[in-house]
Amino acid sequence: MSKLSSQCQDELCLKEGDPKSTRLYLCSHHCYKMLCLKHLTEHDQCIKNRTQYQNKLKDLWDIYTTKFDEDKVEKQIQNLKIELKNYQNLKKCIENLLSINHFHGSMENNQKFEIAIAKLQKVIEQKNQSESTYDNIDLKSKSITNDEEEKQPVIDYGKIS
Ligand SMILES: [Zn+2]
Ligand SMILES: [Zn+2]
Repeated sequence: MSKLSSQCQDELCLKEGDPKSTRLYLCSHHCYKMLCLKHLTEHDQCIKNRTQYQNKLKDLWDIYTTKFDEDKVEKQIQNLKIELKNYQNLKKCIENLLSINHFHGSMENNQKFEIAIAKLQKVIEQKNQSESTYDNIDLKSKSITNDEEEKQPVIDYGKIS
């Protein structure tokens, strides 16, 4: 320990490799190295600054977290995923119906057309009503989904072609 204590253990002092003996002090705050007065002061200031930074950071973070509602954003993402899924299902169904050969008309197909038309009119209406607030889109697109599932017979649009 006596050998070590003859030189400041700060990296800069070590690099300089200056073996001249200076008075050393124990940095008892955090690293427990023996340091010259200059580096001990720097260490001390560094710790003070860090505490200030951390306090500042915490204050700012607290402000930001009151403004950013993580749960709400998560919910909006889920709602958008649901809306996209609904759109994609509908797209598939409509494209199938539009590709049906005219000569293969049947009562069953016409019923599917009627259902699809009603559904499209409904989603267009909902889209017009909910101008851009995700919460609205959420409630409405969910209610559409539920309505369709409850009231209408299950039709496998994949089999139409
Ligand atoms: Zn230290
Ligand atoms: Zn030093």
